[in-house]
Amino acid sequence: MSLFKHLLRNPTAKSYSYSSPSIIMPSNLILTCLSHFTTDASPSTVQVTQYSGLGPTKANEKPRVVVLGSGWAGCRLMKGIDTSLYDVVCVSPRNHMVFTPLLASTCVGTLEFRSVAEPIARIQPAISREPGSYFFLSHCAGIDTDNHVVHCETVTDELRTLEPWKFKISYDKLVIALGAEASTFGIHGVKENATFLREVHHAQEIRRKLLLNLMLSDVPGISEEEKSRLLHCVVVGGGPTGVEFSGELSDFIMRDVRQRYSHVKDYIHVTLIEANEILSSFDDRLRHYATTQLSKSGVRLVRGIVKDVDSQKLILNDGTEVPYGLLVWSTGVGPSTLVKSLDLPKSPGGRIGIDEWLRVPSVQDVFAVGDCSGYLESTGKTVLPALAQVAERQGKYLFSLLNRIGKAGGGRANSAKDMELGDPFVYRHLGSMATIGSYKALVDLRQNKESKGLSSAGFLSWLVWRSAYLTRVVSWRNRFYVAVNWATTFVFGRDISRI
Ligand SMILES: Cc1cc2nc3c(=O)[nH]c(=O)nc-3n(C[C@H](O)[C@H](O)[C@H](O)COP(=O)(O)OP(=O)(O)OC[C@H]3O[C@@H](n4cnc5c(N)ncnc54)[C@H](O)[C@@H]3O)c2cc1C
Repeated sequence: MSLFKHLLRNPTAKSYSYSSPSIIMPSNLILTCLSHFTTDASPSTVQVTQYSGLGPTKANEKPRVVVLGSGWAGCRLMKGIDTSLYDVVCVSPRNHMVFTPLLASTCVGTLEFRSVAEPIARIQPAISREPGSYFFLSHCAGIDTDNHVVHCETVTDELRTLEPWKFKISYDKLVIALGAEASTFGIHGVKENATFLREVHHAQEIRRKLLLNLMLSDVPGISEEEKSRLLHCVVVGGGPTGVEFSGELSDFIMRDVRQRYSHVKDYIHVTLIEANEILSSFDDRLRHYATTQLSKSGVRLVRGIVKDVDSQKLILNDGTEVPYGLLVWSTGVGPSTLVKSLDLPKSPGGRIGIDEWLRVPSVQDVFAVGDCSGYLESTGKTVLPALAQVAERQGKYLFSLLNRIGKAGGGRANSAKDMELGDPFVYRHLGSMATIGSYKALVDLRQNKESKGLSSAGFLSWLVWRSAYLTRVVSWRNRFYVAVNWATTFVFGRDISRI
């Protein structure tokens, strides 16, 4: 929306024309994009030859870095980019970054939603202050690398306050940080019936469903069978996210449901379904510990492959039917539809192919970071895991590379072709952590599955997990929120009724 705000302030300053023969609008729209809001449009329609956007930067303007996505990679980059060298334009359907490692805790009220959402304007204040920097609440719909242009479309969710609006942005440097999409493996009914756990609105939906089912199951006349179904929470996927969410749920049941919803406490259950072993990337000993602890906390672990999902039950490939009231799907991620559709080189697995400097070779001034990118086969390097620590460090590496390029005078489009880029990006895995509920966590500091290294599990690991993430939360404000939420939960318990 800031595009429109700016255009209203200064209708000509940054509005440029592009050919777009396919769009038909009333004729009076040709002169100014602001006429989009007029209601007395002439009935005659012509082919529109322009629509608004940000055109190529001029000599008296700063070069423009366009960042697609406001996740771990994009936000780390925006935080460090030198705004005296560049204008920054971020395009994303959400105006905040999600601190994903703590997202599962918000589903059951251990943390509040705002504690894990960091507004972009707080991460990079220039975006709301500098005249040439913007945040656009929009989707990227395509990239024209020949002309250094990104195609965008506004996001209005269900609130149709403005018809979806298309515009274009010229870039000097483009950073693609589009993340990934939850994998459903094409299993029928998953998209329609399951809830994913990737965004704050997913966590809100899970909390709402959980509360609703707790309330509904207490209503007179509900059969025993229906009560058990409503209060059966099924998690599919035994990776760190699925396990952490199951742990949070079991804590919520053991402490809060037993106290506050005691009429239905014996009906609520958690089942975690995994095709292989849970936490397959962790040390064997930790995996075994997690299995035992989860079982002790009442989480039923089921080995199985989901073959079909209905609105009230799912079916495993051995024919077992599993009725559920809440279904959370967490079986990993893959490239998004947009990433798949982009005419760019691809890494094994279909992510956007990058070289050691995180550039997309064969096109000028385009970089890709985070879950949407992977090393090209020609680099001889393996694709890095879809992890926040990879995305964050790539964002960090890339802002210093772009700052160096900008200082050396290569910030403009097509001006850094022969520039020496310095050291390539090197990733060193710092280890993995996961909380499993009941004040216990796993810490695995091995660099990879084969190597040796420190690993531990239990209460001390849980303290390490909490301290590590508390220090990683982006702002002091959210760090304070998280600490207060944890303390409140410890003293008073969780409260999911405040929605
Ligand atoms: C619940 C959960 C817990 C996790 N826990 C951990 C953990 O403990 N440790 C760890 O290392 N990793 C963890 N991860 C993984 C980690 O969050 C991801 O690897 C990381 O978010 C990747 O960062 P990214 O910037 O590549 O993508 P994301 O953070 O996913 O950001 C992608 C951005 O692109 C935007 N976008 C999408 N489509 C478009 C479009 N068409 N146009 C414009 N913008 C678009 C999205 O809105 C988003 O802002 C967890 C993930 C989840 C979901």
